[in-house]
Amino acid sequence: MKNTLFFANYKALHVILILIFTLLPLIGNASEINVYSGRKAKLIKPLLDQFQKQTGITVNLVTAKSDALIKRLEAEGESSPADIFITVDAGRLERAKQMGLLKKIDTNDLKISSNYIDKDNKWVGLSKRVRTIVYSKKNVKKNELLRFEDLSLEKWNKRICVRSSNNIYNQSLVASLISNLGEKKTEEIIEKIVNNFARKPSGNDRAQITAVARNECDIAIVNHYYYILMLDSKEKEKREIANQVDITFLNQNDRGAHVNISGIGIAKNSKNTANANKLIKFLLSKESQEWYAETNNEYPVLTNASVFGVLKNWGKIKLDEKSINELGDLNPNAVKLMDRVGWK
Ligand code: FE
Repeated sequence: MKNTLFFANYKALHVILILIFTLLPLIGNASEINVYSGRKAKLIKPLLDQFQKQTGITVNLVTAKSDALIKRLEAEGESSPADIFITVDAGRLERAKQMGLLKKIDTNDLKISSNYIDKDNKWVGLSKRVRTIVYSKKNVKKNELLRFEDLSLEKWNKRICVRSSNNIYNQSLVASLISNLGEKKTEEIIEKIVNNFARKPSGNDRAQITAVARNECDIAIVNHYYYILMLDSKEKEKREIANQVDITFLNQNDRGAHVNISGIGIAKNSKNTANANKLIKFLLSKESQEWYAETNNEYPVLTNASVFGVLKNWGKIKLDEKSINELGDLNPNAVKLMDRVGWK
């Protein structure tokens, strides 16, 4: 009798265990989170390791090019293991959102400005980057350049270098102008700027800085951190290039310099939403923000987080924060406008 009872209990336990192990993958592993990152591992992994240590939640990191990750999220659909998507540029975050790849974030106790939070709560910023200009120390004086609009002046004919219009940074820059000035005015300005290009757009932002140092042009439109990376480079040649140019921030007396973000969203089919929200809160803590901004040579989105090094020396810069939430919506207008005026 005792033996039969033991055997029956044992069988019941067995059934329960089997049930747990078959259902577990369906409800998601409560102590795990899968991160798809368009940023390189060294720029994010130490923070994820810290999160894992603090919370006991295992973080699995997949890194690849941002647009490849968007395609992957789309292809994986409901069976995607992704919980988190990290990338750069509000235009790209918005694209992922409009493709239905992101779900709502719990933004209730995030202590960042609403300018850095998507109006539908589908993405939040992690850091800020300024798209501005570097100029030849030899051929240009800083006070010649006050507003982005000035690049359309006749005097800059054949003197401006910039990468191609299929780059999202340039698309968001034009979108920000549309947001501030309207489409008609933006088109007039951009058409003149394109006519001032020194050469057919090619290469990345660093290549434009190099072109200024080599006298191929006098002004390059670039993201601020590429200049810092060259200034701090281990390679002497790159440091020498950076030393021939200087950086300046435009529109300081009106709307502020064009600013974009690196940011984060929760994958639409995430099975670990609570952990994903926990990670976002962690990345927006003061300590995380300071590490992440310093490591990426960017500005923190959290107002009370400090800046270091070159950024600290540059002092306070007025930024055009209001247009961030429109960069994605205006992206198609920007792309068509650039096409119309012949920005290759
Ligand atoms: Fe970049």
